[in-house]
Amino acid sequence: MKILNSTNKITLVLLIFVLTFSNIHANPLLNKINQREIKIIKQKTNQSENEDSQRNLQGSTIRFSYDDQELREYNNTLHTKIILNALKVAFNFYEQFVQVKNPILDELEVQNCYFGDLPIQFKKTIKNSDMHFILGLTLDIKEEWIAKAGACSLLYPDNRPVVGFIIYNLKFLPSQDKVSFSNFEYDKLIKVTIHEIFHALVFSESLYKYYVNITPDQYGINKDGKPFLALPEILSFAQQHFRCNQINQVYLEGSGQQGTAGSHWSKSLFYQDLMTGYILAGDVTWSGINNALLKDSGWYEVQMDFHDRLFWGKNQGCDFYFKTCNAQPRPKEFCDLSNNQQPKTGFNYEGYNFQCQQTLLDKECGFQISLDNKSCYGRVDKFNSEENIMENAGSSFDWNSKGITSNLSPFGSVPFTDAYQAQCYPQKCIQNGNKMSIELTIGSKINKIQKVICEEDGQILKVEGYNGELVCPQINDFCEQQFNCKNHCSGRGFCMNQKCICAKGYSGDDCSIINFDEIQVLDILDPFCTIYNDKNECIKCSEQFSLIGNQCQMSTSSQILLIKYVLIGLYLILF
Ligand SMILES: [Zn+2]
Repeated sequence: MKILNSTNKITLVLLIFVLTFSNIHANPLLNKINQREIKIIKQKTNQSENEDSQRNLQGSTIRFSYDDQELREYNNTLHTKIILNALKVAFNFYEQFVQVKNPILDELEVQNCYFGDLPIQFKKTIKNSDMHFILGLTLDIKEEWIAKAGACSLLYPDNRPVVGFIIYNLKFLPSQDKVSFSNFEYDKLIKVTIHEIFHALVFSESLYKYYVNITPDQYGINKDGKPFLALPEILSFAQQHFRCNQINQVYLEGSGQQGTAGSHWSKSLFYQDLMTGYILAGDVTWSGINNALLKDSGWYEVQMDFHDRLFWGKNQGCDFYFKTCNAQPRPKEFCDLSNNQQPKTGFNYEGYNFQCQQTLLDKECGFQISLDNKSCYGRVDKFNSEENIMENAGSSFDWNSKGITSNLSPFGSVPFTDAYQAQCYPQKCIQNGNKMSIELTIGSKINKIQKVICEEDGQILKVEGYNGELVCPQINDFCEQQFNCKNHCSGRGFCMNQKCICAKGYSGDDCSIINFDEIQVLDILDPFCTIYNDKNECIKCSEQFSLIGNQCQMSTSSQILLIKYVLIGLYLILF
């Protein structure tokens, strides 16, 4: 998955001339993954024909395993911890709705990747796993990719991927001097991880030809040069979603470098979906087209109604599908590139300084995007002066905040000059009979907190103690476009339909309750530490624990819960 960045073009041009290898890590596996084109080889197992017929009788929940020795080699406990935690949430997400038709009854032989034999330290025999991931870290400062993933090895007889890799780019992980990782940042890393796993499971250009019963006319590049897939479930999804029965190909991303083209849904058609190629600091959701593709591959049984909503292009008809922003009149999804006097809050009211721009993938259409993460849902950089000014003017950046056109500023402060100034306010939609209204919270710890109510679309509100005014959004649209969960699921769950799907061992509406009986047993890190300093010493412990020296020790109230684990010598991992 990539972040779209304005420096991208320049970077690409420079790379042609300066082809130095930016990988600081001289591991043979990573070098091979970065340099070689994906070629998939079959893995044979010793499963007998007899077992084959048994396995076809019923599917079973997909089981994952991983190899994290590459991560540990970096010896940065914070990175290892956050990646493994994100992975745990992502695996748990897929376990909720994906079954494999041919589960591995015996052991999974991890022997080779697409480039041939794996280095000896990665060769393994694994029990109770249908898909094994080799994890890696690298530093690629020149390019804007967050993570890469792919399938390595396919299993006879149905050619389902059984070994894959995920490589994270250190550039997008917290730097060594950063000691904590917020729920907002976790939320993004979890989405990236779910996105990458999906590439390895099913969504890679190099995998289509191995789908069960696929024919050559069902994938490839059409006569207009667009990559497409034409499989029954995804076609049916697209026809229903756009309300257009003439759709006979689902378009994939055509531009972008190798690795992006042909393995993502077209951004202009599926903008909000998690499986488009770029994160544009907006809301991304898991839509039903991904369930449909899993089913179309023929490798998986899928619970088809397990997905979030997709508003982009919904019920907009064939004109939207075939002409996108050139449809007449221009669909509301796209903005006018020639007009910079437009609201800056984004398609889902998710940000504060979104601009109408082209993307690198689509040079024709205007999208309301933010190239540098101007999201209302959380802060990443406490030194960001634009956000500091907004906070002083009454904005808050939180999971339930949204962008509102507002130039409110407290008496005595410097007024905003931009007529389309947007700010971030915590919001709540209130249904009263048939009528919807929005409660906005203005002010933060710095200012007095005030609540105001939007009752009409476009209503203008003044607030006591503030200069300027606030413009209410389209209320029904605003209230429909809600995608976040409380506290971003505390970094321990994936948010779908505004409900957290918590990783094993966590529960509650924000996954904040720890169920000690179910915690997955892993042997890494200080299990009770939540924040490390740059020397990898613990400086903050999870709630039930207190810091003594650099170690987290149980407070008495939680000792009872944990005593049996301590007695049998298990080592737990918590966030
Ligand atoms: Zn991707």
